[in-house]
Amino acid sequence: MLFTEFSPIAFIATTPTGAKTLQPLCQNNAVMWVPESLSEISNANIYKDSLKNHVAKLWDNHQAFVFCLATGAVVRLISGLLKSKSTDPAVVVVDETGKFVISLCGGHQGGADKLANLIAVQLGATPILTGASNALELPAVDMLGVPFGWCRGEGEWTAVMSAVAKGEDVEVIQECGSTLWQNHLPKLHPFKFNPSAITKAKIFISHKQYSPPLSPSPPLPLTTWHPRVLWVGIGCERGTSKQVIADAIDKVFQENQFALSAIAGIATIDIKADEVGLVELSQERNLPLKTFPSEILNTVTVPNPSDVVEKEVGTPSVAEAAAIVAANQTLNVETLYITSPQNVASPENIVSLQIPKQIYRSTNPNQPGAVTVAVALSKKEYIGKIGKLLLVGTGPGNLDQMTPAAQTAVASADAVIGYSLYIDLIAPILQKHQIIEALPITKERDRAQRAIELATWGLTVAVISSGDSGIYGMAGLVMEDLQASDWDGKNPSVEVFPGVSAFQSAAARVGTPLMHDFCAVSLSDLLTPWEVIVKRLEAAAAADFVTALYNPKSKTRTQHLVTARKIFLKHRNPDTPVAVVRSIYREDEQITITTLEKLLDTPVDMLTTVLIGNQSTRSYGEWMITPRGYRK
Ligand code: SAH
Repeated sequence: MLFTEFSPIAFIATTPTGAKTLQPLCQNNAVMWVPESLSEISNANIYKDSLKNHVAKLWDNHQAFVFCLATGAVVRLISGLLKSKSTDPAVVVVDETGKFVISLCGGHQGGADKLANLIAVQLGATPILTGASNALELPAVDMLGVPFGWCRGEGEWTAVMSAVAKGEDVEVIQECGSTLWQNHLPKLHPFKFNPSAITKAKIFISHKQYSPPLSPSPPLPLTTWHPRVLWVGIGCERGTSKQVIADAIDKVFQENQFALSAIAGIATIDIKADEVGLVELSQERNLPLKTFPSEILNTVTVPNPSDVVEKEVGTPSVAEAAAIVAANQTLNVETLYITSPQNVASPENIVSLQIPKQIYRSTNPNQPGAVTVAVALSKKEYIGKIGKLLLVGTGPGNLDQMTPAAQTAVASADAVIGYSLYIDLIAPILQKHQIIEALPITKERDRAQRAIELATWGLTVAVISSGDSGIYGMAGLVMEDLQASDWDGKNPSVEVFPGVSAFQSAAARVGTPLMHDFCAVSLSDLLTPWEVIVKRLEAAAAADFVTALYNPKSKTRTQHLVTARKIFLKHRNPDTPVAVVRSIYREDEQITITTLEKLLDTPVDMLTTVLIGNQSTRSYGEWMITPRGYRK
């Protein structure tokens, strides 16, 4: 679905042309608002108030606004509503003809730059982004942790970003969280990962609050990102209030200079899953509450085991053990640990414990209960989003032949994974903050596994295939692997974007060979036994299907096409038209119309699709035509 990450989003047009321009963008839940004078526009909502009042009404509960209106008019409409770039919604302006998409306000944190890019891809328009970081081919400093769910901490964001914009060196101190963002920086970038470098500003990525060194003075401008890597293990007496638990956590964090926004979640023993104070606190702070049975907590070696606790709940540690287990859970803790608890007992897991058990009681006699708090550090941050797998067909190769929906899907992804040739073919729509992982052609299984891993973690991952992703493509492999991993069908979510498959594009280049019943057969016997392929070829030939042959020939499989031709010659005339189409819609495209008899005279390789006509197919000059029967 388009633009779901910006939902709720309001589209606003005031003229019939404007409404027409925005209409292709308004799908699913997106609402288009138009004035009463345009009540004939279908599927639009009518505003009766002045536009200014109407926008004011929508302002606080919308994530994004897309106006098709003069930029000046939009500036006047929203000027009184803007508060801060960290809270303002994305505001995007599209010109009446849909040629330009301006990111007007809320470019970074509001997401307007990203939204403008996505709309531009969808409309085939030019995005207009005026933020300094856009010229730099760099991820914006105030956006770089967003895909990983990091929280922005204290900082002089404007000063650090202007240092980057001026091309000044910026020191990066990263103590935790993913370093994937570093892998895709352009060759020339200002980030220095070496503490001795002389820099003009700092970016501090940590679970801790920054404590400035004594020199230099005055301190350099600094911004802080907090990856959510800390799991807070909690043990408490029954009935301990939310406030006491909250105070305990806050105190422990303050004493250790840990950042509350680096908390991934709260962990405890399963019998506390209904502990009211704990449940309320995790809801209030929007933190997951993970609970583990005593048999699992038991397997963890902890610094401060307690006999008393063991007698009571069957494990010598709740807070420390739960924090460690939660911090060490990989992708799917429930299935991993219940079946193999030994995973959590290894000594390296103990290293993850940052703060051993602290006992807290409220000084207020009206607040009963006692809490133990322990904190462990996870190697992998908690993203806090349900990841998405976008299985995208890019078409035969030329961007013009890729659907706008597929292009928008790729542009919206945090990570794009695919065979390097196809990644290169879609380079113009890739975004500079994206994690691009191009793998060699033979590594399909690795590509699928990697995509699933990243999406299960919480990223939006586009997996690309040429043609249609579900026709001898990556989508099928990903779905098979998901099924084998006991996927629940929802997490990660999956969306498949169709693409123009080779049989369609090959057909289009030679006319209308597929006007009657047709089928596709891949001659590759890497995954399909050759006898099965032969059987299908026999059936296709006998049933007079127009037939598209995929993977017709490789360096090692040279005889398959020879056999296929023989099989078809048993059922069809030697002069049956055949199209041999190579690198369709790519620069080195080659098209040959030949016959079944002469098929082997034309060079064929793995980039070729062969279309064999049925008994009525005819060639006509450069064209191949299969009659449907209208003229009979
Ligand atoms: N998912 C792809 C097929 C991948 S299998 C699709 O739907 O098109 C790879 C085979 O597809 C190649 O061996 C070739 O037979 C065919 N193919 C893919 N792209 C092609 C192109 N641009 N020109 C000709 N054949 C192509």
